Amino acid sequence: MQDEGWGDMRILVINCGSSSVKFNAFEMLNGAESSLFCGQVTGIGETAPQLDWTAQGGDSHKQVIVANDHRQALEAVMAAIRSKDTDNGEPFTPDAIGHRVVHGGALSDASRIDETVLARIEDYGALAPLHNPPNLVGIRACLELFPGTPNVAVFDTAFHAGKPEVATHYAIPFEMADRYQVYRYGFHGTSHRYVAGECAHFLGRPLGDLRLVTCHLGNGASLAAVKGGRSLDTTMGFTPLEGLMMGTRSGDLDVGAVLYLMEREGLTVSEMDCLLNKQSGLLGVSGVGNDFRVLHAAADEGNKQARLAIDMFVYRIRKHIGALAAVLNGLDALVFTAGIGENDDRVRAAICHDMDYLGISLDLECNRGRKSVNTLLSSADARVAVTVIPTDEERMIARDTLAVLEG
Ligand code: ADP
Repeated sequence: MQDEGWGDMRILVINCGSSSVKFNAFEMLNGAESSLFCGQVTGIGETAPQLDWTAQGGDSHKQVIVANDHRQALEAVMAAIRSKDTDNGEPFTPDAIGHRVVHGGALSDASRIDETVLARIEDYGALAPLHNPPNLVGIRACLELFPGTPNVAVFDTAFHAGKPEVATHYAIPFEMADRYQVYRYGFHGTSHRYVAGECAHFLGRPLGDLRLVTCHLGNGASLAAVKGGRSLDTTMGFTPLEGLMMGTRSGDLDVGAVLYLMEREGLTVSEMDCLLNKQSGLLGVSGVGNDFRVLHAAADEGNKQARLAIDMFVYRIRKHIGALAAVLNGLDALVFTAGIGENDDRVRAAICHDMDYLGISLDLECNRGRKSVNTLLSSADARVAVTVIPTDEERMIARDTLAVLEG
């Protein structure tokens, strides 16, 4: 996968969420890449923020730290990782920092961060109020903590930015959509792009020849139709709320139902936002939780709502796979990734059941169990390769950071 000729670069990848910072440091050396250490700070701004990290070779560290904000969290991360010697005996210092940024709007490529890019990320904060502001805080903290070190933003929306116009517009008045930039952006792009590339590599086929549906099934979930390495369509839209049913998000529903409920219940915009993003999906239907381990246990004990929630989740994925296969004019491979896609063999089997019209046929023995490495699940005679490709968004961000710096 890697290009020859990479310099020796240490790239720190930062992913700032609302109360967490995930980090992963990569060494990119002569076309090889390895993770030096990775970890996360959780509970930023809460009573006992915790730093967990693991160095290459396996030694793990856990400590409660002072982190009232993201800057303090990053300072604690740096203090911890500076204590880690690299191979040549020097404490770790990054040559470049790559940041996950959820919404890049019209920015369709990873970009070196300067005042203009910062202003654009800030502008798009209006479209992604839960995500871009913490991403920005992380960027600003790194600019202060590492003066002179190049920072690169890698956008979740970027992979989908080149999809056709028909898959980008909503059927609302054109001028108004344009004024407020209400388009179908799509998300999880870094993950979809990574697993598409890895899948081609794993199957030993050129990405340019493949028609793929990539299924990122975590707490947030989306599918993408990838042809020749390009995203042609995806299930998420203006926000991550569109498309599949998710852990706590409703996914698709009739906008008329939203208006009706707001009127009947007297809900404000932010109350409705909370209902659709945090109280719906698997949690809302089952009433027991949003984690599949909990849902299976409840359904196995006879809980009908938990069974319905699982069945709805699977049904909607099957329906969208059919739609995206139509967009692609057929399918060469189906890719499962993220928490559910990598770990839940029952959900994978249910999705692939009775899909022979598309050429999908699972080898149930190969499908059994959790998968932490690239795995082929389809039966030997199947027309479509069904695979699990564990996602690695941080690695993709490190590669993009390097590519931006190498011009
Ligand atoms: P996100 O990054 O969107 O928070 P993840 O990709 O980590 O989510 O996926 C989390 C979900 O994966 C959990 O809510 C759970 O449903 C599912 N999951 C994780 N581990 C397992 C497992 N061993 N078996 C079944 N499902 C699992």
